Amino acid sequence: MSIIQPLLVLQDIDARIRAAQQEARDIPLRKEQEKKRLTGAKELLVTAQAASKAAQARVDEVELEIKSRRDKITTLRSQQVNLKTNKEFAAMNLEIATIEGQIDALESRQVVAMDAVVPARARVQECEKKLHDDQAVVDGYGKELDARLAVVQAELKQAEADRVEALKDVPPAFAPVYMRLISRRWPPVVALEGSACGGCHLTQPPAVSHTVRRNNSLVICQSCGRILYYA
Ligand SMILES: [Zn+2]
Repeated sequence: MSIIQPLLVLQDIDARIRAAQQEARDIPLRKEQEKKRLTGAKELLVTAQAASKAAQARVDEVELEIKSRRDKITTLRSQQVNLKTNKEFAAMNLEIATIEGQIDALESRQVVAMDAVVPARARVQECEKKLHDDQAVVDGYGKELDARLAVVQAELKQAEADRVEALKDVPPAFAPVYMRLISRRWPPVVALEGSACGGCHLTQPPAVSHTVRRNNSLVICQSCGRILYYA
């Protein structure tokens, strides 16, 4: 396979170039995907913050209701001293007692509402921590990807330099055939498998496979146009 050997060397280099180009294209996409992983943690935090705010609002709301009733009792008591009859006095006592009963019920509700505040706040902290931890993982992975991209770009540069050298060893008549093929078929140079093309698997006519076996000229697959060699 002497005559094809320089093309195989070139093809190996092109394989390196293609892999490096592919990876260089993929790395920014992988970084974007990683960032999207934070979306879930961010959404959970927003939900937890809203729940915590709502829990606190319920406590505040009951607090206001209690205050307005206490104010009402203070007002009633100040009015009570001016009342003329025992009957009026007793009626107002009853009114005050009713409001005090409402305050008791509201205070029980407040206790329940306050019990909900603590776990809601804990949940917010938990979500903040999760987001923080996820962010650290994403940042760490992002740095690894950046480092990998630098390696890939260096590899690409080296492979391109190697390609220039390798091309010098390719017979001038072969290079244009290879160049045309590379944009349409990969790999462009394939071994004969039995008497079939290693790329498209079409069985070659005996004369063609016989010529390939000699490895001393450029032979093209009758179907896919790949360059054939005998390994
Ligand atoms: Zn073929």
